[in-house]
Amino acid sequence: METFSGEGYGIGRIKSEHSDNNYSYVVWCTKTSDCIVIDPNDPVPVLNYVRDRGLSVKYVIDTHCHPDHILGNDPVIKVTLGKILVHPLGFGLVSPRSATVKDGEAVKFGEQEIRVSYAPGHTPEHILLLMDGEAFTGDTLFLSGVGNLKHGGVAEDLFETIGTKVSALPDGTRVWPGHDYAEANLRFAVDVEPGNKDARKKLADVTKLAKKGKDPEPTTIGEEKKYNPFLRYGSPEIEKELAKKNPEWKGGSPFAVFSELRRLRDGWK
Ligand SMILES: [Zn+2]
Repeated sequence: METFSGEGYGIGRIKSEHSDNNYSYVVWCTKTSDCIVIDPNDPVPVLNYVRDRGLSVKYVIDTHCHPDHILGNDPVIKVTLGKILVHPLGFGLVSPRSATVKDGEAVKFGEQEIRVSYAPGHTPEHILLLMDGEAFTGDTLFLSGVGNLKHGGVAEDLFETIGTKVSALPDGTRVWPGHDYAEANLRFAVDVEPGNKDARKKLADVTKLAKKGKDPEPTTIGEEKKYNPFLRYGSPEIEKELAKKNPEWKGGSPFAVFSELRRLRDGWK
């Protein structure tokens, strides 16, 4: 687990063992020690983190309701007496001690607040959680990737969310995804856009860190725009590579590129 800081708040990033490289986050107000927990996977390290810093959990917020993102909800809530917040479309998918948060709502913890931005695509109930300079993106945006569509996802919705909500965030916004898939995602990025020097450099950096057992530092929206193929559906090189890989593919629109990238990534090792 690692700790990062912002102005008036701290961020704990906790990677669960025995998971699909899941990240859970603890975000707290440094003045009052009130905190929120985002997507608790393994509750034990989350509760240890909270206890070690003397934090008080006000809310657990789930970016979406896939089992690995809500796994720690009940144990965390039981111990801390907070509340679980989900998008209305996720109500009923989590335990009864929950309430709903909608697009545009802000959740206060101490003197800090986090804003909800509705982001369907990976699942219908997916939300982004935003602070100035920070975006907790769940399974919508990863380092050099986006969420899959295998369990309730809709390609058109994800394309819309990426194109209008994610791409519109300021370039300096740090990205806090729900999983670490960085290495595989960057190998895919280099495969579909071999001329992208930023993707190659980032892959080399991430591989070097991984060899030392370290996770990548959080990236920014501006960095993602340089090498994340799913934010680069306008790249002529990507379109050319996709046509080479699948001669039957017709292309012809940014959405066609986006959905072909998603299809290829699903079957890509
Ligand atoms: Zn998911």
